[in-house]
Amino acid sequence: MGKRLNRDEMQQFFESLQESYDIYGPKLYQGTGCFSDTDVVRYGQLESWEELVWDRKSDYSFKEALFPISETILYFTENEMKTADGPARPRMIFLKSCDFHALKRLDEMYLRNGAEDFYYRRMRENTVFAVMGCKESGESCFCVSMGTNRCEGYDIYAFQDENGCYVDVKSGELESLLPECGQSTEEEPVFVEKNQVQVEIPESLPENIQEDSMWQEYSGRCIGCGRCNFVCPTCTCFTMQDIFYKDNPKAGERRRVWASCQVDGYSDIAGGHSFRQSQGDRMRFKVLHKVSDYKKRFGYHMCVGCGRCENVCPEYISYIACLQKLKEKEGK
Ligand code: SF4
Ligand code: SF4
Repeated sequence: MGKRLNRDEMQQFFESLQESYDIYGPKLYQGTGCFSDTDVVRYGQLESWEELVWDRKSDYSFKEALFPISETILYFTENEMKTADGPARPRMIFLKSCDFHALKRLDEMYLRNGAEDFYYRRMRENTVFAVMGCKESGESCFCVSMGTNRCEGYDIYAFQDENGCYVDVKSGELESLLPECGQSTEEEPVFVEKNQVQVEIPESLPENIQEDSMWQEYSGRCIGCGRCNFVCPTCTCFTMQDIFYKDNPKAGERRRVWASCQVDGYSDIAGGHSFRQSQGDRMRFKVLHKVSDYKKRFGYHMCVGCGRCENVCPEYISYIACLQKLKEKEGK
């Protein structure tokens, strides 16, 4: 059973949570969009409940609150190495249902795809998740097609409307922080049930889909900027950088930094060879990972249908149109 809180009561709950957690969620950053005089919604630490953006899909996903774009993982000197400390305080992340499903994909990649990732595990165990109810489908969302519009297993569910906020706290520890005020209610969580965009993912693809001419179009159009990877909540690749300090070049730190399979140099290997040199090959690699190859390994699709890659491409390359073309290849 949940509770109905008005805005002041919700702020009171938020402040109680702040005593135990650093709270992250989608925030509006005015004037920092890609074009002049445009805003961007991305993840940042929240100082008040009012900062949380409800009516617009975040341009970037929650994953930068879980693992930073650039993270120092160890410090070294000539003879010694020290693992970098994790964040001092636990985190709470507010996110929508599609992103909560993306968390399952991140867990799969970092925790169950070979050796566990120590840094991800550390952060994951120190983080709780609050799902934000979603009434209206955002631009280019196709979560219903991907089955990610509803979710369970969160620590808190919250939904804000003109009558205040409905909150359902699932974790006993967090329940004790709920204010005494507010009214108990039998409301059900609100999730999007219909998107304007419907996508059909092919069940099977022709054996020669790797060589299909459909990928050539992207060699002419894609500029390899990697933005589609950076906004995607399910992309998990990173690269390593060793930084040597100027005042002592024998000491430094190792950082891991997000990487993109669309960018030059991603697939360079020792000896000078490079795989997937054309943008068409890179697009094929990315798209088939999202809706075919990952499923072969884990039994469900990697893509959660958030539509962010569709919105962010500076060349107006449509991932959704690409999936439609792929569907037309089914059974051929
Ligand atoms: S591939 Fe595109 S639509 Fe799918 S999860 Fe990534 S950003 Fe969202
Ligand atoms: S955002 Fe568009 S142009 Fe940039 S790498 Fe992705 S598909 Fe290519």
